[in-house]
Amino acid sequence: MPRMDLSQKLAILSDAARYDASCASSGTARRDSRDGKGLGSTEGSGICHAYAPDGRCISLLKILMTNFCIYDCAYCINRVSSNVARARFSVDEIVQLTIEFYRRNYIEGLFLSSGIIRSPDATMADMVRIAQRLREVERFRGYIHLKTIPDAAPELVEQAGLYADRLSINVELPTDRSVQVYAPEKNPATIRKAMGDVRARKEVAGERSYRGKRGKRFAPAGQSTQMIVGADGANDATILGQSSRLYGDYKLRRVYYSAFSPIPDATAKLPLIKPPLVREHRLYQADWLLRFYGFDVGEVTAVRPDGNLDLDIDPKLAWALQNRGLFPVDVNRAAKEMLLRVPGFGTRIVGRILSSRRHRRLRYDDLLRMGALLKKAKAFIIADGWSPGALTDSADLRARFAPPPEQLSLF
Ligand code: SF4
Repeated sequence: MPRMDLSQKLAILSDAARYDASCASSGTARRDSRDGKGLGSTEGSGICHAYAPDGRCISLLKILMTNFCIYDCAYCINRVSSNVARARFSVDEIVQLTIEFYRRNYIEGLFLSSGIIRSPDATMADMVRIAQRLREVERFRGYIHLKTIPDAAPELVEQAGLYADRLSINVELPTDRSVQVYAPEKNPATIRKAMGDVRARKEVAGERSYRGKRGKRFAPAGQSTQMIVGADGANDATILGQSSRLYGDYKLRRVYYSAFSPIPDATAKLPLIKPPLVREHRLYQADWLLRFYGFDVGEVTAVRPDGNLDLDIDPKLAWALQNRGLFPVDVNRAAKEMLLRVPGFGTRIVGRILSSRRHRRLRYDDLLRMGALLKKAKAFIIADGWSPGALTDSADLRARFAPPPEQLSLF
């Protein structure tokens, strides 16, 4: 194999990292201006955006250490039987790239994942070495997110948590059965054990000794996981049910949903079913409702008989349309739990409503000034000077929000 320079490796290994959903720019459309006809590019630089624990949007160098892999997960472009260009960074190269990019102000951190080379332990040991060098030799204070390898020795995962801000361990697919079929070298029980170990280790780090000393810092930004959606036949009820168990069992900060991208390769083992990225987006919205709006999985997935979310409208609106008997709600009297269920009201708007109405009654214009999305909310609320009348029950209410049906192409 001809020797590659650093920029060639970066091109391959940042492109391969696109499938790790952990950043705001994951899954974006390919746009490129290297032909000179435009400005900017969504490709090739290896830099993505993610949200730091304090809510800031930060730029990360997002790369794989290598896209060589000894495993053969059917949904993965980097699997051993896939016919893609391969590359591998050394520990030194990744340290050097991170520091160079950081010094030039291109990035504020590193997101590092990897295919499995030699063995899970050998791969994880290299990743730990990178994080350790960055922290202890280069004194790198930026953000580090490491994808850990569940089959690696627990001591290595533990070391990773001492240097990384966030650890993630992928559950891969929504059910154990799917993991067994599509990622036969992986073991769902091992994945859960590794996630449980990270949770336990993090809890120990948060405790104080009898002298009041805190334990060693361990993954302060917590752990997350990723689930591929659309590679197996799991519906959204199954996916969200699995997520809610994971949030509860492992105190996850985030479940990332990654729409399965079919692999244009004769060796692909899966049928080419491409769920649109809109499904990924609706799952994130539903996930948000479960975590911050008091909904449960059964409620958000009861809208369609097949247990999938409505792709045309957001899940909160879909639920409200199906439960019109609970609306309209009076913004001057309704409980917080019910206000949170009004389409177009976010948690911030509900907070503003609750604090303002202690002093005065609220009118439609007040809600407008607070920033409520009244185009959505107005059919579901009553305020001083506003009643939706027959709008709440009107037969064409859904059609006002759903995109118009498209004529299917005949060609
Ligand atoms: S172990 Fe990871 S990189 Fe390797 S084939 Fe499976 S998903 Fe892809």
